[in-house]
Amino acid sequence: MDKLIEGLKRFKRETYPRLKPLYDNLIKTGQKPRALIIGCADSRVAFETLTGCGPGELFIVRNAGNIVPRYGTYVGGVTASIEFAVTQLPIEDVIICGHTHCGAIAGLLDPDSLRDMPAVRDWLNFSKQASERVRKADTRTISRHKRAATSENVKLQLENLHSFPCIAERLGAGSIKLHGWVYELETGDVLEYDEKTRTWNSLTGDEPVKPPPPLPQ
Ligand SMILES: [Zn+2]
Repeated sequence: MDKLIEGLKRFKRETYPRLKPLYDNLIKTGQKPRALIIGCADSRVAFETLTGCGPGELFIVRNAGNIVPRYGTYVGGVTASIEFAVTQLPIEDVIICGHTHCGAIAGLLDPDSLRDMPAVRDWLNFSKQASERVRKADTRTISRHKRAATSENVKLQLENLHSFPCIAERLGAGSIKLHGWVYELETGDVLEYDEKTRTWNSLTGDEPVKPPPPLPQ
């Protein structure tokens, strides 16, 4: 907690004064994010850090496993937040972002590990189809199995987004685009799913990797 409070103080002292004009403008005109990201709650996936976006630029919905229940099967924070963002904000791009080494995906593939977490087990049921699909595919090793399930889960949640009337309507009008991403913790790369070619392609390409600075103490 000490670290968090120290961070709050530093933000107020150093960052907030720099961003004050931006915050004043965001208060005056309201938020106008163009991107809605549905991502995992995992602490290692920091979207503002990943994208370089700041306040007012990303509307983010996070939950275990970056899951979007099909519209009408469940009403909760995820459904309501997506519906709010799409109908009330100038969202042009909706991104489902999974990530490697995802605990939710590990749980999905090993339901016995969820014995003490009935709520997690029930929640991950919304992704069950993804694990059933990879079970039929050639995934050989556990790590390949997990990787395949991570990708398949993103594709499944993209399909589920189509069940939202507000999204279907905007897709029909061509005013919104859907994207499926997987963030690779081990490389820093983000892959995007191409529905036409059914392939995953790097969004970061051959960006040179700078040598890492020393970690903060
Ligand atoms: Zn995760």
